[in-house]
Amino acid sequence: MIRDNLTTIRQQIFDAAERSGRDPLKVQLLAVSKRFDVQKIQEAFDQGQLLFGENYIQEAEKKIYELPSSISWHFIGHLQSNKAKLAAQLFQVIETVDRLKIAKALNKHAQEIGKTLDILVQINIGQEKQKAGVDPQDAELLLKELGNMENLRIRGLMAMPPFSNDPEQTRPHFKALRKMSDQFTDKGYFAHNAPTILSMGMSNDFRVAIEEGSTLVRIGTSIFGKRT
Ligand SMILES: *Cc1c(COP(=O)(O)O)cnc(C)c1O
Repeated sequence: MIRDNLTTIRQQIFDAAERSGRDPLKVQLLAVSKRFDVQKIQEAFDQGQLLFGENYIQEAEKKIYELPSSISWHFIGHLQSNKAKLAAQLFQVIETVDRLKIAKALNKHAQEIGKTLDILVQINIGQEKQKAGVDPQDAELLLKELGNMENLRIRGLMAMPPFSNDPEQTRPHFKALRKMSDQFTDKGYFAHNAPTILSMGMSNDFRVAIEEGSTLVRIGTSIFGKRT
């Protein structure tokens, strides 16, 4: 099942990129494996899937040690300062940096282990009270502050727009995010020695996200099935 799902999604990513005149190779697939066990992750890995996303540090820790070291792990959950040390050790990319305090903690722990940690700034694009992410109007200030942190490499932006069953409702948020990403790229806030990442799009809206410029789609349900 995972094998067929991956085949289908890869084809859909390819098609969405092609029809919007984009290079399909510039859209990466992050398999979101929260609440799925190592067997399922291994199954996806055996089909050539190398990028996985996890939301909970403790859950991820157990899995990461059991799985091949060639996997690249992205943290996509809400990060607390007391978990920053483990997060810096375990993950290649932290997608959810949304405040100075957490950035400082990650930078410090990355420095201690001699690592340069890739990070994305999470934007609360729908300005929803209950959601994580920096408000769009505060994002530039945060990026300026991150610029001095030597062990963080700022790769781009991530967001989770307000949920809707109709992906067309989400399109304007993707557009806005793309615009922010382009502006920040022009101003030089992102690392120059690596491609910029724009992490947007999930199972129900990734095609629209790709049409609007996503370079990384985060997909769980459509690969692994419903989470219980
Ligand atoms: C769970 C999760 C996803 C995957 O969602 P699906 O609808 O299962 O594809 C993507 N991004 C984040 C931040 C998540 O927490």
